[in-house]
Amino acid sequence: MPIDATQPYDDQNVFARILRGEIPSRRVYEDDYAVAFHDIAPVAPVHILVVPRGAYVSWDDFSARGSAEEIAGFVRAIGHVAREHELVAPGYRLLANIGGDAGQEVPHLHVHLFGGRPLGPMLA
Ligand code: 5GP
Repeated sequence: MPIDATQPYDDQNVFARILRGEIPSRRVYEDDYAVAFHDIAPVAPVHILVVPRGAYVSWDDFSARGSAEEIAGFVRAIGHVAREHELVAPGYRLLANIGGDAGQEVPHLHVHLFGGRPLGPMLA
């Protein structure tokens, strides 16, 4: 069920629980600003989710309320994960769904990192 990206942050959402270690995940990276883990239902050979440690519903919320330090740290973490997985030379794709029309399902900002095969054209 897609979320409303304007809703208040719900600290019981699944990624908040993963960040707190209450739900297991296959973590590939973590630092002060972000945690990255494999998507539970991958659609590409590499399908990693990168989430900020802070409590932000969506990219919109993060861009409005996140500090410059948090935003820089999050962006750097995404790049780090991509380089660690040797995705820069072959290429990869980043995607963030924001709210209902985009089909965002988990109300904690996450960026999908896809790679490991030619990804084809964007559909939208
Ligand atoms: P969205 O549609 O919100 O952009 O993407 C949510 C993503 O989270 C989906 O790709 C889905 O497979 C993934 N996901 C949902 N629940 C879990 C979970 O408990 N663990 C992990 N690792 N991924 C999850």
